[in-house]
Amino acid sequence: SEVKKDSKLMHIIHVTAEMAPIAKVGGLGDVVTGLARACLSRGHRVDIMLPFYECIQREQIDDLTLITTYNSYHDGKWIPTHAYSGTVSGIPVIFIEPSHQFFKGQHVYGGSYNELEAYLFFSRACLEWMQQVTRTQPDIIHVHEWQTGALPLLYWDMYHYLSLQKPRIVLTIHNMEHYGECRQEQLNMCGLDGSLYATFDKAVDDRTVGHNPERLSLLKGGIVYSNAVVTVSPTYLKETLCSGWLSNTLIRHRDKYVGIVNGIDTAMWNPSIDVFLPSKFHAQNSEGKKLCKYYVQRGLGLASGNHVPDTALKVPLVVCITRLVAQKGLHLIIHAIKQVEELGGQMVILGKAPDSRVGSEFEGLVNLHNQGPSIRILLMYSEELSHLLYAAADFILVPSMYEPCGLAQMIGMRYGAVPVVRKTGGLADTVFDMDDEPNHEMTNGFVFEGIDEGSLNRALGRAFACYRNKPDEWNGVVKKVMAVDNSWNNTAGKYIEIYESVRA
Ligand code: ADP
Repeated sequence: SEVKKDSKLMHIIHVTAEMAPIAKVGGLGDVVTGLARACLSRGHRVDIMLPFYECIQREQIDDLTLITTYNSYHDGKWIPTHAYSGTVSGIPVIFIEPSHQFFKGQHVYGGSYNELEAYLFFSRACLEWMQQVTRTQPDIIHVHEWQTGALPLLYWDMYHYLSLQKPRIVLTIHNMEHYGECRQEQLNMCGLDGSLYATFDKAVDDRTVGHNPERLSLLKGGIVYSNAVVTVSPTYLKETLCSGWLSNTLIRHRDKYVGIVNGIDTAMWNPSIDVFLPSKFHAQNSEGKKLCKYYVQRGLGLASGNHVPDTALKVPLVVCITRLVAQKGLHLIIHAIKQVEELGGQMVILGKAPDSRVGSEFEGLVNLHNQGPSIRILLMYSEELSHLLYAAADFILVPSMYEPCGLAQMIGMRYGAVPVVRKTGGLADTVFDMDDEPNHEMTNGFVFEGIDEGSLNRALGRAFACYRNKPDEWNGVVKKVMAVDNSWNNTAGKYIEIYESVRA
């Protein structure tokens, strides 16, 4: 469908460490791509600036071209840096590649170079590119997370005194857990005087008792120096004002701090055209979803033995797609395996553990369960499998301890999977309990509050009971979740309002 163009058009440049699908680790990558696409279709000019990671999926970049080589400052030297242009899924991207070991390796994060220094370099190189190479004056530079937290400092204390006049800075915080710890002399490396930021009202890390002036936080600096700060849901905004190490800083900057729920990129996540699915479907006709479910059950050996399609299809299938980190409620994910098995359902986990101890714990579970009839644990990152599993799922489980926004529940819904979630952050803003009568219009899943196993058991029990005993209600809610509009088309307007409110 045609999207209405905005009347006042802006030039927005995202400076980011991730972009889906070529350099995606989690939700950040999805958000950047989805928001950029939505703003483009409303008529704005949007560019994305991304490090040219060695691991980037080049085959998904169209028209990759070296634009120029320029010098950007790092640690007393000017480093020759290549800038490439390309198009990714229809969105213009500039890739920054220093002639340095930065951004080398098999993964987006966790390479053998110093990550903090690499992103300090990248933040400055992006401004340098605007100032020196293209002389563009975007209306908005939109930065994300601690990785680009130094950019607002560099802009207001350096480049704004050079030739960059027009840009205003918007920072989106996708997760406050990562704060970008930085020592004064590390900040010196990007050409700023680190000692000038070692004050409580600038970038001293609030968590340090007595404010150790050596310990700065790029995320805090970014908050202080940006014109607007967005976090990814209203409930997470409230949570971060009430507790957490940044709450004092955020309270002091309350006037420019807003919560906007992420959208999903409905071009990338669309079950009616999804190339990864053996059979397409949509809210008006979800027959194809059954085929996807059976396809997955067959493929994973969950429909073997005497299971004919009809018998296999009757078994409720719970899917959990997540980074395996503490935030995501690991003990509840592990408990769910047992509980789903006990309730006679099936469960598939698609997850990757960045921490090796968590990894081996889950490998133990793989050995315990993957030969059995009902549980499959897939310890890997796979975009393709994730699409298949969302499409196959009856339930999408998100039992997070905290969740700034969460995309899995929204993607799941679009693919007809009913969410079972813990009531926190963005999950509380997007999933409303089926048994919560007063809210009947909005109800679309099963919600629990406690972090104990009993709370999860009760929610799963209610979910399975609905699936098995109330077919009309069940079919109704599946239709309903598929029709919920969590698209960026729906929420990008809120970002446009923020851009409008701060632009020069
Ligand atoms: P976070 O950003 O904390 O990882 P979100 O729910 O916001 O959590 O976004 C997670 C995104 O990453 C979703 O698009 C989800 O499908 C995807 N994802 C997570 N783990 C995997 C995996 N192992 N394989 C494929 N996709 C994954």
